[in-house]
Amino acid sequence: MPIQMVDLKTQHEKLQPELNQKILEVVENASYIKGKEVQDFENELAAYLNVKHVIACANGTDALQLAMMALDLKPGDEVITANFTYVATAEIIALLQLKPVLVDVDRDTFNINIEEIRAAITPKTKAIVPVHLFGQCAEMESLLALAKEFNLYVIEDTAQAISAQYTFSNGTKAMAGTMGDIGTTSFFPSKNLGCMGDGGAVFTNSDALAEKLRIIANHGQTKMYYHDFIGVNSRLDTIQAAVLRIKLRKLDEYCQSRAKAAKYYDEYFGNIKELIIPVRSKKSSHVFHQYVLKTNGIDRDALKEFLNKKDIPCNIYYPVPLNKQKAYWDNSRIFTNTDYLCDIVFALPMHTELNEDQQQYIVKEVIEFIKK
Ligand SMILES: *Cc1c(COP(=O)(O)O)cnc(C)c1O
Repeated sequence: MPIQMVDLKTQHEKLQPELNQKILEVVENASYIKGKEVQDFENELAAYLNVKHVIACANGTDALQLAMMALDLKPGDEVITANFTYVATAEIIALLQLKPVLVDVDRDTFNINIEEIRAAITPKTKAIVPVHLFGQCAEMESLLALAKEFNLYVIEDTAQAISAQYTFSNGTKAMAGTMGDIGTTSFFPSKNLGCMGDGGAVFTNSDALAEKLRIIANHGQTKMYYHDFIGVNSRLDTIQAAVLRIKLRKLDEYCQSRAKAAKYYDEYFGNIKELIIPVRSKKSSHVFHQYVLKTNGIDRDALKEFLNKKDIPCNIYYPVPLNKQKAYWDNSRIFTNTDYLCDIVFALPMHTELNEDQQQYIVKEVIEFIKK
């Protein structure tokens, strides 16, 4: 078996009979849009996350858009998010004519830095969008306190961290995406809970926001052909909901497989000074959407090339900070940690189907490069 960054094929084979049957059922019922499976999936995911409302939509980027539209933000309002993230987060802020205010992250957890958020707050700031990067929650307790102090909305981008659990200092636990006003996620195939195409969802504990989110996702329609808001068309297909219902039942097992693979890497790389293994936050579990190492004093790009030659895929998340992208150019401030991380991060294959032979080979080759 060739090693892959994400092995969806093997994962699929294990579920194939069940998936085939369900997909065929949806097809035969011709309930392609808003079929019963969609509502069932929303309810099951809400129960899993212990959140009051889940509203499915077309993808994770739309989920962010729905969230920001539901919060009545006005052009020019400032929205703070991390400079070290996937582009979708900042893209939606900019698309809605809000102002993305990018802030630096922590070197150890890769997540948004609370003091940097505080320093970036102005009278125009309306919301904070933490991204739970690579599978671990941002420091939500301090972030929520800050949001409360300045009366700011919190939208959690949970595309990479569904199922991660955060523990507050009083012992209360909450799932990623359920702590702020709205949580968003993506069911893109390679995400921890992925479907067979595009999919996404928003979560909220607010009845009023849930109602508004549903209306916005459906052309702003309050009743058939009456449009009280400007909305969008963003739906999860029934087939995708049927697939996700099956995969949701496997999600805990999938998280365990990822944790096991991470532990294997940790054991071999933990005492190699050229590699810094992913730091675990004290308050969040880690669902390892990605296993991201920091290289220390070695040529990262040469390592990548070396591994690729040995048929080991690897990737850089993310090579360029958002503030250095042409579309989001902002050199008004210095982002020391983001700059540092973009130069040294290095992601190894991480998925639910990695086996020990494959990991042994990966580890052996990484170590061989370092010892060269
Ligand atoms: C994948 C991802 C998204 C976007 O999800 P899509 O379903 O691809 O639109 C948004 N934010 C983050 C952090 C992501 O990783």
